[in-house]
Amino acid sequence: MPLVNPLPLSVRLFLGCVLLLCVALTAYRYGRDPEYSVIEFQGNSMGTTWSVKIATGALPKSEQEKISKTLKYSLSKVDSLMSTWREDSELSKFNRYNGVIPFALSSETFAVFEVAQSVARSSKGALDITVAPLVEEWGFGPGGAQEFSGPSNIKGFQSRIGFEKLKLFPNGPAVSKSIPGVKCDLSAIAKGFAVDEVARGLRDLGFENFLVEIGGELKASGTHLNGQVWRVAIEAPIFEEDGFTRRKVHRVLDLNNRAMATSGDYRNYVEREGERYSHTIDPMTGRPVKHSLASVTVIHEMAVWADAWATALNVLGPDAGYNLARKEKLSAYFISRRPISGSETDNGIEVRFTPEFAIQFQGHRN
Ligand code: ADP
Ligand code: MG
Repeated sequence: MPLVNPLPLSVRLFLGCVLLLCVALTAYRYGRDPEYSVIEFQGNSMGTTWSVKIATGALPKSEQEKISKTLKYSLSKVDSLMSTWREDSELSKFNRYNGVIPFALSSETFAVFEVAQSVARSSKGALDITVAPLVEEWGFGPGGAQEFSGPSNIKGFQSRIGFEKLKLFPNGPAVSKSIPGVKCDLSAIAKGFAVDEVARGLRDLGFENFLVEIGGELKASGTHLNGQVWRVAIEAPIFEEDGFTRRKVHRVLDLNNRAMATSGDYRNYVEREGERYSHTIDPMTGRPVKHSLASVTVIHEMAVWADAWATALNVLGPDAGYNLARKEKLSAYFISRRPISGSETDNGIEVRFTPEFAIQFQGHRN
């Protein structure tokens, strides 16, 4: 028995219509009113470009300046903590430290170490931040490429590599090295972490509708002006025309309060004598990954996890990567340069995605 008498059907229908009209009018106003717009901020940080789009009502100049300052502060903070390119960064100090007693770290850097170690364990060391000496030796570190032949003695390097050589102390927070000389590289994850930090900063400022992008890693919150969730694109790995390399949209999808990260060999690589060397190192072989996978995109609630997993799956390649993504129930999309049985063919590119990723395409035909 209802506690109060329900309203007559005609009244309920009338109220329903009024409500629908209000929603439609709000959407119309929101979409048309010049007061509402997408305000964009952009710049360079962490060795790459970044952009932030906010769908919002009118913002005075002073407010825009405050946002710009907050964004730049968040980004330069992550850079000053986790860059291997800055000698004064917290990570560079950790890398120079030659002892084995725990080294105190900021809560931010420690949080990235925690994600790294968790994904390293789940991927059996495909993602391994202790790979730093090899990254440097192959010419992808701050020293740059000298002679691109790689290390003369990979085994010599590998004695210093292995994620199990790090021990984490959450109560410090601090990290210890089991042998001196272990060095870490957080570049595979730091951008994702920065995306989460920027998004948190925007929420703290009271914004709900925005899209953050740092070097291709994204996080969407709320909706665009038309009330629809943000639409983003997965890039085609490479598009050559007239001898020029161009970027091309491979697939458009809705990003509904989620983060998306891509790891691939098409943005950052070097070419020597017609051979392409990826900046992602397989810690097992000590060499740049060499397989048919051109890129892997991961969608996750947090950009830091999406970024870490994208790199791990990229190291593992099209088959082992796909199998682990299925096992871990990750939302992942693989683009390969060779046919994979059971895959879809799309303009000569072979794609495969996990069931968790398939829901992204609902409502789209592209
Ligand atoms: P991108 O920077 O293009 O988004 P990734 O997120 O995959 O690509 O990060 C690649 C970077 O991570 C490399 O430039 C290197 O500094 C570092 N790296 C390379 N191989 C590994 C690995 N196996 N595990 C952890 N970090 C790696
Ligand atoms: Mg990554």
